[in-house]
Amino acid sequence: MAEFDLIEILKQRCASRRDDVHLGIGDDAAVVALPAGHELVICTDTLVAGVHFPRETAPADIGWKSLAVNLSDLAAMGASPAWATLALTMPEADAGFVSAFADGFGALAARHDVALIGGDTTRGPLAITVTTHGFVPSGCAIRRKGAQVGDAVFVSGTLGDAAGGLRCLQSIDESGASALMQQKANQELLISRLNRPQPRVAAGIGLRGLASACIDISDGLIADLGHIAAASELGIDIEEECLPGSVALFECFDMNTCRTLQKSGGDDYELAFTIASAKVELMRIAMTELGCQVTQLGRVVARTGVRVFDRNGQHNVSPEKGWEHFT
Ligand code: ADP
Ligand code: MG
Repeated sequence: MAEFDLIEILKQRCASRRDDVHLGIGDDAAVVALPAGHELVICTDTLVAGVHFPRETAPADIGWKSLAVNLSDLAAMGASPAWATLALTMPEADAGFVSAFADGFGALAARHDVALIGGDTTRGPLAITVTTHGFVPSGCAIRRKGAQVGDAVFVSGTLGDAAGGLRCLQSIDESGASALMQQKANQELLISRLNRPQPRVAAGIGLRGLASACIDISDGLIADLGHIAAASELGIDIEEECLPGSVALFECFDMNTCRTLQKSGGDDYELAFTIASAKVELMRIAMTELGCQVTQLGRVVARTGVRVFDRNGQHNVSPEKGWEHFT
């Protein structure tokens, strides 16, 4: 299969029509129109086989996830997603892989009205780099910096599911499926959170003008709250008891394991944000309208670092490290 044919498959399934795409796939570069009064918001994420997803992951899930992790970054900025480019490196020109990949990528792209407008296709070990472009009204991007002492700290959705899903996959590999059969539905739910994360795009947009700082949780709650704390030059105190978890997670693992997965498991793609007390009520109403569960975890404090308090009021100073590639 020729490179051109692979690009055509991607174009057919992922290059949705948007009026603001003046030139899409097929020329040397794409041309898009940014709405007046807006700023461009850009992010890139790479997924490497065996590092960011198990090698056996279904191609459609890889396609979905490669876009989802990017849309999650845009969501954390409060940006409306619009366009994506895709650098696809794969060992051979495999039309079956590209078709399935495009189905997964295209399904999520359609959901958020994102158009694939270009990219690059090369031979090598399987790796996918997606760049997404979105926009915000000028000056309205939500940053990691901006938290104030006394702000409430919130998180969307539930934590630890994806990391729990990864553990399920690993234990299925090791011990065969049999011992885990009774938990099958729960495990499938956790694994789907790993393979098909739902980026909090609408919630991110809804937090514009409300959240004082925001981040998406990709490397683990504690590590990512640490980024808000560091950027804002403040600290964050949270209570372990408050960490929201799914029924599936609690039914699959003992409480200690659940807490570890919730605090330091990666791949949640939920939003963690800080917000002034005066705006909390407005935010709750907005998130309820969007059907987005939010949970208060704690507060922003003057001393630096992230502290997690257990039910006895004892704290440990961010012992859980997030995922770091070069350590
Ligand atoms: P060039 O040689 O000018 O870089 P290519 O032959 O690499 O162009 O690409 C031709 C067109 O196809 C370009 O518009 C490019 O953006 C698009 N394209 C190539 N690979 C991909 C891909 N993986 N996904 C989306 N578009 C792609
Ligand atoms: Mg060219």
